[in-house]
Amino acid sequence: MLTYSSVMDAKGDLYETWNDRFLSAVGAPADADQKWYQPRGIEDLPNLKQSSERDFWGWRSSMRFKIEAWVGQIEVPPHFLLEGERKWGTLILYFLDSAQFIGGGFAVVVNTNGPGTESVKYFTWRACEHAFQHRSTGTCQHEYTCTKCGAKYDVDSSG
Ligand SMILES: [Zn+2]
Repeated sequence: MLTYSSVMDAKGDLYETWNDRFLSAVGAPADADQKWYQPRGIEDLPNLKQSSERDFWGWRSSMRFKIEAWVGQIEVPPHFLLEGERKWGTLILYFLDSAQFIGGGFAVVVNTNGPGTESVKYFTWRACEHAFQHRSTGTCQHEYTCTKCGAKYDVDSSG
């Protein structure tokens, strides 16, 4: 079961909107009982890529994460493990849904159970493997549009 340990400051309609967007992005079937949807593992997550502690905290310190969802115990596929690392871990999903993470976020697996070396593993996931095209819309205004899904975000580089 997905347990939302924090949905930041969203209330009412905003909560529902983020919740729906999150479940749709993470790949929950539209006809499933979404309250009970659970990815079986990290490989169920769309466009999964290995990331790093530095990346995760870099984004976490500069952007709001909209949802943190505790998934529970999963088995990390062997090709993501270094020699001797524990394969069972606790999966926590983070939904950013902004900038290059529109429709996506991070997945963190904390491997502290069972035999082997403890580790924390970081991944990114996205509903769309965005291909952003840049366009200047003013002196310091930049617009990025995904050529695949149409997702769009703006950056003001004037600081
Ligand atoms: Zn896209």
